[in-house]
Amino acid sequence: MSYYFGFNTPEEQKKKRKSDLTAIGEKVTSFFWDIAPANGFEMREGQQDMSFEIVDALIHDQHFAVEAGVGIGKSFGYLVPVLLYNKRMKKPVIVATSTIALQEQLWDDIHIVMKLLNLQPEVILAKGQTHYLCHKRADEHINTADAVIPDELQIGLESGFQERKQFSQTLPQNIWDKVNVQRFSMRNCGGCEKKCLYHAIRSKIKYTDGIILCNQDFLTAHLQQIRGWQDGLINREADLIVVDEAHNLDDKVRSATTKRINQGMLLGLIKSATNEVKAADRQNIYGDVEDAKKSISVFFDRLKAQMQEQIDHSRQDMRYADRFFFDGGEDSIALLKAMIESIKSVALSIQIYTSFDYGSRTTAASDELDSLSESLAEMIEQIDSNLLWIERKGKNAELVYCPKNTSQITNRLYFSGKERVILTSATMTNASNGEFVDQYSYFIGNTGFPTDERGCLSEPKPSPYPYDEHSMIYYCDDLPHPTQEHEAFIEQGVQRLLEVLEISGGKALVLFTAKTDMEEVYTILSKLNLPYKVLMQQPGSSQDKILNEFREDTNSVLLGTGAYWEGISIEGKSLSNVVIFRLPFPVPDPIIEYKASIAKDALMDVRVPEMIIKLKQGIGRLIRNFSDTGIVCIIDPRLRDDPPAKYHDIVWESLPIKNKTNSLDKLKRFFDSLSSLNDH
Ligand code: SF4
Repeated sequence: MSYYFGFNTPEEQKKKRKSDLTAIGEKVTSFFWDIAPANGFEMREGQQDMSFEIVDALIHDQHFAVEAGVGIGKSFGYLVPVLLYNKRMKKPVIVATSTIALQEQLWDDIHIVMKLLNLQPEVILAKGQTHYLCHKRADEHINTADAVIPDELQIGLESGFQERKQFSQTLPQNIWDKVNVQRFSMRNCGGCEKKCLYHAIRSKIKYTDGIILCNQDFLTAHLQQIRGWQDGLINREADLIVVDEAHNLDDKVRSATTKRINQGMLLGLIKSATNEVKAADRQNIYGDVEDAKKSISVFFDRLKAQMQEQIDHSRQDMRYADRFFFDGGEDSIALLKAMIESIKSVALSIQIYTSFDYGSRTTAASDELDSLSESLAEMIEQIDSNLLWIERKGKNAELVYCPKNTSQITNRLYFSGKERVILTSATMTNASNGEFVDQYSYFIGNTGFPTDERGCLSEPKPSPYPYDEHSMIYYCDDLPHPTQEHEAFIEQGVQRLLEVLEISGGKALVLFTAKTDMEEVYTILSKLNLPYKVLMQQPGSSQDKILNEFREDTNSVLLGTGAYWEGISIEGKSLSNVVIFRLPFPVPDPIIEYKASIAKDALMDVRVPEMIIKLKQGIGRLIRNFSDTGIVCIIDPRLRDDPPAKYHDIVWESLPIKNKTNSLDKLKRFFDSLSSLNDH
């Protein structure tokens, strides 16, 4: 029965919805003005505004996007209206994030808000599937001859653990990957559903009318299904969605629409499909199979050669690159077409022979080969609208492809249905001046967020932290150019790094864009007799472990790249200095190059916005609460004042810390003065 029973005409339903939302708005007001203060919660202006604006956008039937600076308490800002909406409308609400850390934080936050609002909806936390134990795979692993079964696994299984976080941190990742859930499918599970936590979660979220906390990958897969008229992974009654960490949304949609093939996978699939043909008939497909194997091998040899060529001859250091350009010249395309044709032929032959076979043989592999050959044929037919690149897989190469225009796809998935979507993040804008459409222009371009009456862009909410009293940015104007004079830059950059580390007495997070730079700097620092420990995550070890070491050894210096720019939060003295070793302009990458190729101004419309968003994320690591203090040091000459780069003003205006200097003396005086603040 519909909740709007008794309000049958669309007009009546609209009126009823509006009055419900207005009532929710009143409750939001009472939460921030009465309930929260009465319970000792200090509410922040930007947070309340965000809540009121969300309700207002819903009243106007709009999607809503807001940048909420660090410390606003944005999760409370959306959880209050979300919980009230769920209660009043009796509809499930989805909240999706892109990191496990935020998902777990939200679990705590939502229970605090529920208590304050005196609400008890069902809340389901659905982490990514690989965080859960698969009993079937664990049994298979344990029963494999020569299986490695470390104590951490044995103890965890005996204790009935179900999630990665219950097992010891020291359980090696490669062992966990053998026993966790992978490629979950309700149809393929059998016999072990009753004891499987992940199966229980997946079943519950299809019917719950509560709150679902999931990740953006899962939400995207759900929306792909319901836009394709399938059932969906979550209760499709959910018509309110919150996407937190929304600056990652276009990456998530791109990866959901990305397909990949490699030699091992293709040969394995052909072998399995061939085995589904009756032995007596196999000789009839032998020729097609051999042709396909040959063309696959020729094509992937070509990819490997292209990858090696880029490693050996690119102007940039590509030794650690994951993505490489696919040379779409005539020769390569001809080899790709030949391979696809041969896969099509073998798939067709196998289909013919398996369809003659009326026995009870399975056709799973031949069906999979058939649908893969169709998908490849479709890709090659529309090659101009697809983006192709190569990815390194061990010593081999994978061909990866996805539609070029993911913003159209994101728009269709997220903004074309009955659901209203609230998007938020601490880093969504790429400029701090101009109309909101200009400030959010990069985000809009990447996601297709509607800028007509269906979308509402909110005024960015600045962080409430006292940045300019508690922090200062140091920038260099006298170093060599980081890419044009790379060797000299590293040499002089390390000297400058040592000077700023001396000022803060270590206690620093040094962020790198290029892994090669990080390793080079680590090697140099490790040879010096420094009064602080220098840490870097080693292959095979976990980020949590190194972060704990960094926290506990207050003076230590941690070098990081990739996930260290955004996913970590370290409060207190251990992190008193964030060093940006080279501005985080994107490294050459097929996706960035594609975006650049269609931009009017590749530098100002793509590379600079990418860099600003990442720089803001890095700087955001420094001040994590009202009492944190410290300095940010940018080891790169490109933000100098004289002569200014084309992007000088837009970058400086975008940064949350306005207090800046290019003098090491001033920096030292400022840093020393912070101790008096810390004493209070
Ligand atoms: S129900 Fe599926 S995911 Fe769960 S343990 Fe069984 S096979 Fe693994």
